[in-house]
Amino acid sequence: MALRKILTYPAPELKGPAHTVHNIDATINQLVTDLVETMYAAPGVGLAATQVGSAERVIVLDVDHENPGKHLVKLINPVIVQAEGSIVWEEGCLSVVDFTAEVTRARQVLVKGWTPEEKEIEIEGTDLFAVALQHEIDHLDGKLFIDRISRLKRDLYRRRVKKWLREGVPLEPKKPAVSI
Ligand SMILES: [Zn+2]
Repeated sequence: MALRKILTYPAPELKGPAHTVHNIDATINQLVTDLVETMYAAPGVGLAATQVGSAERVIVLDVDHENPGKHLVKLINPVIVQAEGSIVWEEGCLSVVDFTAEVTRARQVLVKGWTPEEKEIEIEGTDLFAVALQHEIDHLDGKLFIDRISRLKRDLYRRRVKKWLREGVPLEPKKPAVSI
Protein backbone atom coordinates (compact mmCIF):
# COMPACT_ATOMS: atom_id res chain seq x y z
CA MET A 1 0.00 0.00 0.00
CA ALA A 2 1.28 3.40 -0.85
CA LEU A 3 -1.31 5.90 0.23
CA ARG A 4 -0.46 9.46 -0.73
CA LYS A 5 -1.42 12.53 1.23
CA ILE A 6 -4.34 14.41 -0.30
CA LEU A 7 -3.67 18.13 -0.45
CA THR A 8 -6.47 20.47 0.54
CA TYR A 9 -7.39 24.03 -0.39
CA PRO A 10 -5.60 26.47 -0.11
CA ALA A 11 -2.52 24.33 -0.94
CA PRO A 12 -0.81 26.19 -3.85
CA GLU A 13 -0.04 22.91 -5.68
CA LEU A 14 -3.77 22.55 -6.42
CA LYS A 15 -3.53 25.60 -8.71
CA GLY A 16 -0.63 24.41 -10.83
CA PRO A 17 -1.64 23.03 -14.22
CA ALA A 18 -0.28 19.52 -14.76
CA HIS A 19 1.89 18.68 -17.77
CA THR A 20 1.38 16.05 -20.44
CA VAL A 21 2.81 12.61 -19.75
CA HIS A 22 5.25 11.72 -22.53
CA ASN A 23 6.36 8.37 -21.22
CA ILE A 24 4.16 5.83 -19.48
CA ASP A 25 6.99 4.38 -17.42
CA ALA A 26 7.34 2.69 -14.03
CA THR A 27 6.99 6.01 -12.17
CA ILE A 28 3.68 6.76 -13.90
CA ASN A 29 2.44 3.22 -13.25
CA GLN A 30 3.30 3.57 -9.56
CA LEU A 31 1.50 6.91 -9.48
CA VAL A 32 -1.61 5.30 -11.01
CA THR A 33 -1.52 2.44 -8.47
CA ASP A 34 -1.10 4.86 -5.56
CA LEU A 35 -3.91 7.10 -6.82
CA VAL A 36 -6.29 4.12 -7.00
CA GLU A 37 -5.42 3.02 -3.44
CA THR A 38 -5.66 6.55 -2.10
CA MET A 39 -9.02 7.11 -3.84
CA TYR A 40 -10.59 3.94 -2.37
CA ALA A 41 -9.15 4.65 1.08
CA ALA A 42 -10.46 8.25 1.15
CA PRO A 43 -13.11 7.20 -0.03
CA GLY A 44 -13.67 9.16 -3.23
CA VAL A 45 -15.17 8.47 -6.64
CA GLY A 46 -12.22 10.08 -8.37
CA LEU A 47 -8.76 11.44 -7.75
CA ALA A 48 -6.36 13.51 -9.85
CA ALA A 49 -2.57 13.44 -9.55
CA THR A 50 -2.69 17.18 -8.78
CA GLN A 51 -4.45 16.37 -5.51
CA VAL A 52 -1.47 14.39 -4.24
CA GLY A 53 1.06 17.01 -5.36
CA SER A 54 2.08 15.39 -8.65
CA ALA A 55 2.07 17.52 -11.81
CA GLU A 56 1.39 14.63 -14.22
CA ARG A 57 -1.84 14.46 -16.21
CA VAL A 58 -3.24 11.34 -14.57
CA ILE A 59 -6.72 10.71 -13.12
CA VAL A 60 -8.51 7.68 -11.69
CA LEU A 61 -12.26 7.23 -11.19
CA ASP A 62 -14.72 4.70 -9.90
CA VAL A 63 -18.24 6.00 -9.53
CA ASP A 64 -19.61 2.54 -8.65
CA HIS A 65 -18.68 2.01 -5.02
CA GLU A 66 -21.12 -0.89 -4.75
CA ASN A 67 -18.81 -2.96 -6.96
CA PRO A 68 -15.32 -1.54 -6.38
CA GLY A 69 -12.96 -2.15 -9.27
CA LYS A 70 -15.63 -3.18 -11.76
CA HIS A 71 -15.84 0.25 -13.34
CA LEU A 72 -12.42 1.54 -12.35
CA VAL A 73 -11.00 3.95 -14.91
CA LYS A 74 -7.34 4.99 -15.09
CA LEU A 75 -6.62 7.76 -17.58
CA ILE A 76 -3.40 9.38 -18.66
CA ASN A 77 -3.54 12.66 -20.59
CA PRO A 78 -7.37 12.79 -20.61
CA VAL A 79 -8.97 15.30 -22.97
CA ILE A 80 -12.65 16.14 -23.39
CA VAL A 81 -13.38 15.89 -27.10
CA GLN A 82 -17.17 16.24 -26.96
CA ALA A 83 -19.58 17.66 -24.40
CA GLU A 84 -23.35 17.79 -24.56
CA GLY A 85 -26.31 18.86 -22.47
CA SER A 86 -26.28 20.29 -19.02
CA ILE A 87 -26.61 18.91 -15.50
CA VAL A 88 -26.55 20.42 -12.04
CA TRP A 89 -24.78 18.28 -9.44
CA GLU A 90 -24.10 18.88 -5.76
CA GLU A 91 -20.32 18.46 -5.80
CA GLY A 92 -17.84 17.87 -3.06
CA CYS A 93 -14.11 17.33 -3.29
CA LEU A 94 -11.54 15.56 -1.12
CA SER A 95 -9.39 18.70 -1.52
CA VAL A 96 -12.15 21.09 -0.45
CA VAL A 97 -12.82 20.25 3.17
CA ASP A 98 -16.35 20.32 4.53
CA PHE A 99 -18.10 22.04 1.65
CA THR A 100 -20.45 21.12 -1.18
CA ALA A 101 -22.14 23.26 -3.80
CA GLU A 102 -24.21 22.89 -6.93
CA VAL A 103 -22.16 23.07 -10.11
CA THR A 104 -23.48 23.10 -13.69
CA ARG A 105 -21.57 20.95 -16.16
CA ALA A 106 -22.11 19.02 -19.39
CA ARG A 107 -24.38 16.02 -18.88
CA GLN A 108 -22.52 13.83 -21.35
CA VAL A 109 -18.88 13.86 -22.32
CA LEU A 110 -16.58 11.93 -24.59
CA VAL A 111 -13.04 11.75 -23.22
CA LYS A 112 -9.93 10.54 -24.99
CA GLY A 113 -6.85 9.37 -23.13
CA TRP A 114 -4.32 6.62 -22.60
CA THR A 115 -4.38 3.61 -20.31
CA PRO A 116 -1.37 2.54 -18.21
CA GLU A 117 -1.03 -0.27 -20.82
CA GLU A 118 -0.33 2.45 -23.42
CA LYS A 119 -3.60 1.96 -25.27
CA GLU A 120 -5.41 5.00 -26.60
CA ILE A 121 -9.03 4.88 -25.49
CA GLU A 122 -12.28 6.80 -25.71
CA ILE A 123 -14.67 6.86 -22.79
CA GLU A 124 -18.23 8.11 -22.77
CA GLY A 125 -19.69 9.36 -19.51
CA THR A 126 -23.18 10.41 -18.49
CA ASP A 127 -24.53 11.99 -15.28
CA LEU A 128 -22.27 11.38 -12.24
CA PHE A 129 -19.57 9.75 -14.37
CA ALA A 130 -19.57 12.76 -16.73
CA VAL A 131 -19.49 15.15 -13.76
CA ALA A 132 -16.58 13.23 -12.18
CA LEU A 133 -14.60 13.18 -15.45
CA GLN A 134 -14.98 16.94 -15.84
CA HIS A 135 -14.19 17.53 -12.16
CA GLU A 136 -10.98 15.46 -12.31
CA ILE A 137 -9.80 17.00 -15.60
CA ASP A 138 -10.42 20.41 -14.00
CA HIS A 139 -7.96 19.41 -11.25
CA LEU A 140 -5.29 18.80 -13.90
CA ASP A 141 -5.89 22.36 -15.11
CA GLY A 142 -5.50 23.72 -11.59
CA LYS A 143 -9.21 24.31 -11.16
CA LEU A 144 -11.41 23.38 -8.18
CA PHE A 145 -15.20 23.15 -8.23
CA ILE A 146 -15.29 26.27 -6.04
CA ASP A 147 -13.86 28.14 -9.04
CA ARG A 148 -17.12 27.29 -10.83
CA ILE A 149 -19.55 28.67 -8.24
CA SER A 150 -20.62 32.24 -7.56
CA ARG A 151 -18.03 34.63 -6.19
CA LEU A 152 -20.21 35.22 -3.14
CA LYS A 153 -20.32 31.52 -2.23
CA ARG A 154 -16.62 31.11 -2.92
CA ASP A 155 -15.74 34.07 -0.70
CA LEU A 156 -17.86 32.66 2.12
CA TYR A 157 -15.93 29.40 1.90
CA ARG A 158 -12.58 31.22 1.70
CA ARG A 159 -13.42 33.09 4.87
CA ARG A 160 -14.40 29.86 6.64
CA VAL A 161 -11.07 28.27 5.66
CA LYS A 162 -9.14 31.33 6.84
CA LYS A 163 -10.91 31.11 10.18
CA TRP A 164 -10.11 27.38 10.47
CA LEU A 165 -6.47 28.09 9.69
CA ARG A 166 -6.38 30.85 12.33
CA GLU A 167 -7.92 28.50 14.87
CA GLY A 168 -5.55 25.67 13.95
CA VAL A 169 -8.34 23.37 12.72
CA PRO A 170 -6.62 20.64 10.66
CA LEU A 171 -7.76 20.78 7.02
CA GLU A 172 -7.89 17.10 6.31
CA PRO A 173 -10.27 15.37 3.93
CA LYS A 174 -13.41 14.28 5.73
CA LYS A 175 -15.04 10.96 4.98
CA PRO A 176 -17.96 11.90 2.76
CA ALA A 177 -19.86 9.32 0.79
CA VAL A 178 -19.27 10.90 -2.58
CA SER A 179 -16.36 13.20 -3.12
CA ILE A 180 -14.46 13.74 -6.31
ZN1 LIG B 1 -11.84 17.10 -6.47
